[in-house]
Amino acid sequence: MGSSPTFPIFLWIFKLNKKLNNPIKSSGNIIIISAPSGAGKSSICEAVVSSSQNIFYSVSYTTRPPRKGEINGREYFFVNEPEFKKMIKEKKFTEWARVHDHYYGTLKTLLRKVLKAGRNILLEIDVQGAVSIKKQYPNACMIFIITPDLKTLENRLIARNKDCREIINIRLKNAKKESEYIHKYEYLVINKNLNSAIRAVKIIIQSLEYKIQKDKAYFTNGR
Ligand code: 5GP
Repeated sequence: MGSSPTFPIFLWIFKLNKKLNNPIKSSGNIIIISAPSGAGKSSICEAVVSSSQNIFYSVSYTTRPPRKGEINGREYFFVNEPEFKKMIKEKKFTEWARVHDHYYGTLKTLLRKVLKAGRNILLEIDVQGAVSIKKQYPNACMIFIITPDLKTLENRLIARNKDCREIINIRLKNAKKESEYIHKYEYLVINKNLNSAIRAVKIIIQSLEYKIQKDKAYFTNGR
């Protein structure tokens, strides 16, 4: 006797049942942190990553030249424009954007690997990249960091002594534009005091452990 026409339906029900009774293995969370330059984002990210074994920092690719003290593979992977464009063509980035006249991108393979391993990945990326990641990964947690006001931001940019006045003006102008994206984010941390801001970001990340994942089955096999 040949296979019954109902066989594919049984197979489908079997597969569906199996899926519902076996909660999808928890994948890690994507944590996006964006902020205008000088808002303290890097210090906050560094403190958060170094205090947790389960958060992996995603090192981006950029065409921006390294600043004093920056090391290839630590702050960024520094590449030239043709190399970056080749990587875009080869679809190596989950997202990429042009920020402050340079290209920046998040590597696709790394992101997927970390998530699959059940670890959290922290992306320190701009507002365009954040929106793009959120479209692809709706569960991604979006945190925006700002200073209490623009004057504080300007003072911090001057004090850190990394950029000339012309660049500082560009960064201040961009900060105003970036702040228009705040409503697309889920959390806002005002960095008035660095330690308090670090604590706030840690609390937000800890709370993700209790977040209901829409694509996961719960309470179906006695859990
Ligand atoms: P900076 O050159 O000051 O390190 O970074 C400039 C801006 O680029 C920051 O807003 C930073 O968050 C953003 N950025 C860094 N890496 C990426 C990335 O991979 N993708 C996107 N979209 N932005 C990034």
